[in-house]
Amino acid sequence: MQVIDKNKIVPLLDRLSKQSEVFVPTVKGSESGFYSWNSLNGAKEIALEALNVYHSPKNVLFPQTERMYSIEQGKQVFSIPDTFQDEKSRIIFGIRACDAKAITCFDDVFLTHGYEDSFYATRRKNTIIIGNACYQPGANCFCSSMGINPVQPDADVVIHDAGTVYAWEAITVTGQQFTEQVQDLLEEKDLGLPQLKPFSTEFDYDGVVEKLQGMFDHEIWHELAEPCMNCGTCTYMCPSCHCFDIQVKIWGDKGYRFRCWDSCMYTEYTAEAGGGNPRPDSQDRFRNRFLHKLEFFTERYDYPLCTGCGRCISVCPNGINIIDIIKRIKEVDKIV
Ligand code: SF4
Ligand code: SF4
Repeated sequence: MQVIDKNKIVPLLDRLSKQSEVFVPTVKGSESGFYSWNSLNGAKEIALEALNVYHSPKNVLFPQTERMYSIEQGKQVFSIPDTFQDEKSRIIFGIRACDAKAITCFDDVFLTHGYEDSFYATRRKNTIIIGNACYQPGANCFCSSMGINPVQPDADVVIHDAGTVYAWEAITVTGQQFTEQVQDLLEEKDLGLPQLKPFSTEFDYDGVVEKLQGMFDHEIWHELAEPCMNCGTCTYMCPSCHCFDIQVKIWGDKGYRFRCWDSCMYTEYTAEAGGGNPRPDSQDRFRNRFLHKLEFFTERYDYPLCTGCGRCISVCPNGINIIDIIKRIKEVDKIV
């Protein structure tokens, strides 16, 4: 088995960051997330042992705000002098299985079913993903219940923490090519991988989609949604949520269009120009969030839009817990 000594991780990141922007899990004060290696203060901030850091790396492929194209107003027409395609080479290093699966969700949303988002596509094709296997699930982690193998992230290469070394496993062709470039930092070693520790929460997800298909009008939504104040925190922190809004910034006859993260928890998200709104009430928006994650997405792509990272549980100011909601859904009778 190929391994990399933990002492060689910093030289590896130094080398990679000469050709690419390398994003690594990092602890910065009271926050943690994926930050560019070049912006860090050396090895002391890297946190490869952290489970799923506070901020997922969704910003790397789907920026919180991005320019799309510039516009100019002539006498008769608008023209588009530039579109902004971000072709920078990137590496996401040390992503956990839940966040890697969220990128798989984005790949399906932004690149399949006859539709390609060129902004996402350009960034994605220039990004290499290095996964970090999880052997010790955290208190709010439940990826295994959502059909995800925590020790096999959707990645080009997977590293496995094995004491003083990381076992190095190239998964894709891209991962094999990448491995060849860093071969001088790897060595062969016989070693066993750790045992996966038990999850504190596991449940049987089977049947949830079928159950939800008959629950659109169920009275339970009133009770489940009652504590939600539609702050949207869960949607911004979720690695797989991908709602966005498109806005324009204009000065005189020039400007640009940009898009930025949005949230289905907000009234304005579904506000229509004519004054209507199909989801006027808090409860409608709450129900939509869970139906989208657990039913509609599965109907379209065959797996749920929740990867079990547990972030929404940790950050919800009112203690709303998606695991409890799934369990309640499983318990209730179908609609009436
Ligand atoms: S974080 Fe909690 S209160 Fe805020 S929108 Fe999400 S579920 Fe509702
Ligand atoms: S819904 Fe919650 S647990 Fe599921 S992926 Fe999003 S933040 Fe993580």
